[in-house]
Amino acid sequence: MKQTLKILVVDDNEVDRMAVRDALTKAGVQMELFEVSDGNDAFSALSTTAYDCVFFDYRLPDQHGLTFIQQLRSLKIKVPSVVLTAQGDEQIAVQLIKAGATDYLSKSKISPEMLAQVLRSAIRIYWAETQAALVNQQLRESHEQLIRKNQELQRQQQQIQMQNFKLLEVSQLKSHFLATMSHELRTPMNAIIGFSQILFRSKFGQLTHQQADMVERILNNGKHLLMLVNEVLDFSKLEAGRLDLKAEIFDVSKVINLTVGEMRSLADAKNLSLLVQTDLQNTLVFNDPVRIKQILINLLSNAIKFTESGEIWVEVKELPASRVTIVVRDTGIGIAPRDFKRIFEAFRQVDQTITRKYPGTGLGLAIIDSLVRMMGGKIFLESKLGIGSMFKIELPRQIRLFTEAADAPAIQLDGDEIYRSAKNPHNSSSQTR
Ligand code: ADP
Repeated sequence: MKQTLKILVVDDNEVDRMAVRDALTKAGVQMELFEVSDGNDAFSALSTTAYDCVFFDYRLPDQHGLTFIQQLRSLKIKVPSVVLTAQGDEQIAVQLIKAGATDYLSKSKISPEMLAQVLRSAIRIYWAETQAALVNQQLRESHEQLIRKNQELQRQQQQIQMQNFKLLEVSQLKSHFLATMSHELRTPMNAIIGFSQILFRSKFGQLTHQQADMVERILNNGKHLLMLVNEVLDFSKLEAGRLDLKAEIFDVSKVINLTVGEMRSLADAKNLSLLVQTDLQNTLVFNDPVRIKQILINLLSNAIKFTESGEIWVEVKELPASRVTIVVRDTGIGIAPRDFKRIFEAFRQVDQTITRKYPGTGLGLAIIDSLVRMMGGKIFLESKLGIGSMFKIELPRQIRLFTEAADAPAIQLDGDEIYRSAKNPHNSSSQTR
């Protein structure tokens, strides 16, 4: 308690005021005591001076104790207040405390000890209440702040959602554009290829060596262009979920051997050995032969493109749990672990510059990725820069034609290889998709 307390006594009865004064003095309370005899004087005193405590008579001449307390509140005067009641007024005193008085004391119980104790506890209660009110206020403020932040977050979330919708719309437009353009380009491309082939037929007259060379170039370039256009068309169909697998039972080793045979001239042109080994007890699978061929052509053309010397191996093997694996291995330039994930993204190439050495759309692996997922399979990649790469595709012998297989992550931990899910990549020198 601070040294000298400012105390106000409000009572019209001189004797009662004296009793309070004497008791406080006897209790040794260091104080400046002010006395007034009615409510109006009390308010004038309280509005000009900060008191440490007010003792007020319940029955003031100009107003009831309850009105006094209510007015204190409405004038926002904050001060510890003790009601002095007559004997039998305790019930009313409880009401007064509910209305805002700090404590009460029956006049019959006024004694130095009692008054000093009531004074001390009134001041303590008042401060505790003030602190609690402050904390309450702070809590209310932080609650309001939280509500505001929440509203702001909701607003931002709505904005992000709108941007997402817009992005989706733009992406759909892009896919639509790619699909339409590549579809439109296929018709003239097929005409160019068809007519170039017709020109080779002798019934239209013999071509000179130079003319044959030019027609052959037109034909080869036309075929290459058609392949690129088909890649874009497949990709846009896969992106839009409009590419269906046409599954049938077929001899997978026959398709593999045939495809390798078609690609051999490309490997020969670079003096690369192209070896194929099929080791299957049962060569029949239920899958889409056109898409299996497409996967192998993409892997093989990459292997040939990115290998300057050495060999390319194609292996087809049986796996437990009715699965089949197709492996394409090369002794090419290899891929750095940091690029493992990126190269499976559409239009991504390790070398993204315009002056890059190796041509291509950057769609081959993205297409393979989508197709293998649709087939319920997995892709494993192992590679070392300057040594070579190995792409391993594991497929169920019999695919299920459900769309959910396309969404399932192509992952699992096995042996000492490090794998990753297509959605949770790891940078390592070996991984699956
Ligand atoms: P593209 O071959 O048309 O560039 P892909 O999607 O087939 O597109 O391949 C993406 C990239 O992955 C290639 O540009 C190349 O950087 C890398 N890549 C793919 N296969 C190999 C491979 N066998 N050896 C080295 N790099 C490869």
